[in-house]
Order: sequence, then C-alpha cells, then structure tokens
Amino acid sequence: MEQNETCSPDQGSTDVLGHRCLFTPPHLVNAIAQSAISTSADSLTLAPGAIQQLQTFSTPSGNSQAESDAAYEDELRKQELLEISSQLARAAEEDPIPSEFTNPGTYRKVYNLQFTKHPSSFPGSLWRKENDPRSDDEAVNSLYDSMGVVYKFFSVAFNDNNIFRTYTPPVGIVHYDFYFPGAFFHIPYPDDGTNRHTAIICGDGWANDPWNNGASLKNFNGLFGNFAASLEVVAHEMVHGFLHAVCKLKLDKEPGVVNEHLADVFGIMCEQFSKDQTVFTADWLVGEDLIAPDWKGVAFRSFKAPGTAYRLSKEPFKVQDGDDAQVAHMDEYLKGEQDKGGVHINSGILNKAFFLVATRLAETLGEKYKYSWTLAGKIWYTAFTAELSTMKMAADCDVRTWAARTYSAAKRKLKLEKEVCEIVKGAWGDVGITVG
Ligand SMILES: [Zn+2]
Repeated sequence: MEQNETCSPDQGSTDVLGHRCLFTPPHLVNAIAQSAISTSADSLTLAPGAIQQLQTFSTPSGNSQAESDAAYEDELRKQELLEISSQLARAAEEDPIPSEFTNPGTYRKVYNLQFTKHPSSFPGSLWRKENDPRSDDEAVNSLYDSMGVVYKFFSVAFNDNNIFRTYTPPVGIVHYDFYFPGAFFHIPYPDDGTNRHTAIICGDGWANDPWNNGASLKNFNGLFGNFAASLEVVAHEMVHGFLHAVCKLKLDKEPGVVNEHLADVFGIMCEQFSKDQTVFTADWLVGEDLIAPDWKGVAFRSFKAPGTAYRLSKEPFKVQDGDDAQVAHMDEYLKGEQDKGGVHINSGILNKAFFLVATRLAETLGEKYKYSWTLAGKIWYTAFTAELSTMKMAADCDVRTWAARTYSAAKRKLKLEKEVCEIVKGAWGDVGITVG
C-alpha cells in the first residue's frame, strides 16, 4: 500500500498565480448566465454591472489568450498579491491579536472593504473583532459567526485549535465588489515565510442593487445570494487555507481535485455540525442556500449523487454546460484543461466515496457513529494531517494516493477494526479506486 505514497514530501507550491478557488466554478456561472439570458426578457432584469460580472467570471482566463497577455496578467497579479499582502501586514500591526487571548489561532477580525476591491484598499475598515458586540452590517456578522463555527468544529471534532498552523488566522473581508459571485482565500505572496497574513474575501453576489439604492433584485432574486452569508462557502474557503497551511496542496490537476474534495468534505461537515445533522438527516448538498429561490432544486454540488445538483439546459437532458457535470466514478474522470483539470468536476468521485464511507459506518456501527465527523471525518482528517509510513501529505498528492492515505490512516494510524477498514476499501472500490 505505502508504495503508492511516494510523492515528494513537503514540496512547496510555486504556481500561486491565478490559482485560487473562487468557490463558484466558471461553468456553473456560465450555465446560470446562459439560462438567465435565454429566459424571456420580460421576466428578467439584470443590472448592467451584474451582466458584466457574469461575463467576466464565466470566461476562463488564460486559455485563449496570447502568451504575452498571460505574462502581463501574471505580472499584474503578482503586483496585486504583493500589495494585498503588505496591506494585510500593515493592518495586523495596527490591530494586533491581544497577547492575553487564549487561542490566537482562532482570533477573528472582520473588515468592510466597502466595494473598493482595489488591492491598495485592503483589508478595508475593521468593523468587528473578537468579542465585539454585533455590528449593524449583517454580512460582517454572518462572516464572523461562520468563522466561529469553523473554529469550533475543528476544535470539538479533532481537538485542533490552530488550523492555520504557522500562518496568522485569516481576517474576514466583506463587501469586496458589487455582484461578485464568489469568495476566495488569500495566501501570502511571496509565500516564503516573510509574510504570514491570510484573508478570506467574500463577494456580495446579488444581495443588493447599487444602481437602485441597494434594493434587492427582484427577478431570480439576483441569481446569487451574499457569499458571506453561507457557512458552506466560508468553511470551504477556510479549509483551502488549512490545506495550504498543512502541506501547500496544489489547486490544479489531480492535487486540485483532492483539494476541492477536502474543502467540500470539511465544509459540509461544518454545516452538518452547526445544524446537528446526522448522515441520514443531512441533505449532502453544497451551496443550495446561495442560489436564488427561483431556481428550484439547484445546488452547486451533490455528495450523494454527483452530477444531479443542477439542471439548467433545455430538454432533452444531457451532460453539457447547462447541467451539473460532476462525475462519480473513475471511468468518467474528465481529463483536459477545463476547470483547471476538472477540479470541481472530478471531485465528485471522491465526494461520493466519502458519502459512502460516512453513511455505511453509521448504518453498520449504529447510533454512536451517526455523525459524519465522528469516524469518517476523523479518518479523513488523520489521512491529511498525519505522517503515514513516515510520509507527510505532499503538495502534489494525486487522487489514488489520497485514497490510499485514507485506508492507511484507518488501518495503520488509527488502528481501526477490520470492519471499518473494509468499509473504506469498499467505498473506494465502488468509485473505481483499488486500495489496500
Ligand atoms: Zn474550492
């Protein structure tokens, strides 16, 4: 088994430029944009800024551009990242974490960027820090509360009170840009230890219409809700930061698939934890609370049945841009450049395996294991954070190595009984991966 775990340990990620998860995959924004545009004009009024955001967001960058453009974009991006990093360092100096705070790794500060997304404006003004009373801005409060749930979840479930390791806990930033249909995690640049300041940045979606005195948009409720208001979004993005802090796990190709999978797994466990849901009562959907109520039955992803979370194309149904393209078996693994190597598409295979492990453990072992994090989550957490056969998780860990690590974690690290190990092995087998 361990011979699969031969990725070079602790290899740093060097290609941070342009590689970050925006939560909303471009193909989903594109599907919603196309579907909205093809809907009768009478029933749809999108503000000009919203249409522009949809177009920008749904156009994959880089692929069709000349190399000189790409190089120029990289240079621009470097400058932006440098500026953001130095602004975060400045803000941290202005408002340091009090030395008497017991768990500095979980200290929260939420800033309001007031829609001035320019790097020199980061992080905006500090609106709420740890133990402050509620702010009069609901996005600030939502992000503050969700960050608290994430910290509490890792503390209660895994006794981990410092998920960002040697980095500072991220500052939260809301009101990044009007209509921005996403959220992302800022990793310091350069990431060489000289700057340890991170941030989680949330867009407002279509929570309000700046062209109409902040009124909420009527039709389709503006497509997307405020990303700061979704625990799953906040948890998913914070977990990207956790994954980076532990092993600089890459965000594209196969390691990117593992990365998206783990962000979804720990994200959905946070949601189940906050709602006290068991593996049987949970909906196993990601992002269902973010899509406007008019789009019935639409979520971003489904753990239970990858590929069925949304269906926006016209009849007859077929897998294309307008429908959930996630796959659930290695036979269907999408190769190619799309979605940075299908990171949000192939992650369905791994998500399905986790769903199977969590539900089968609860079915087989009973009441004590009805929560996903009690055992399945513990195996996944251990597979990611522990040294297995003297191998740390590698930055370029591929899909099969990841599967092998979960089996190793169950069998050799946690020394779980054979029945449990067989369930892990069986679930991976069901999605086309042999372990053990
Ligand atoms: Zn992600």
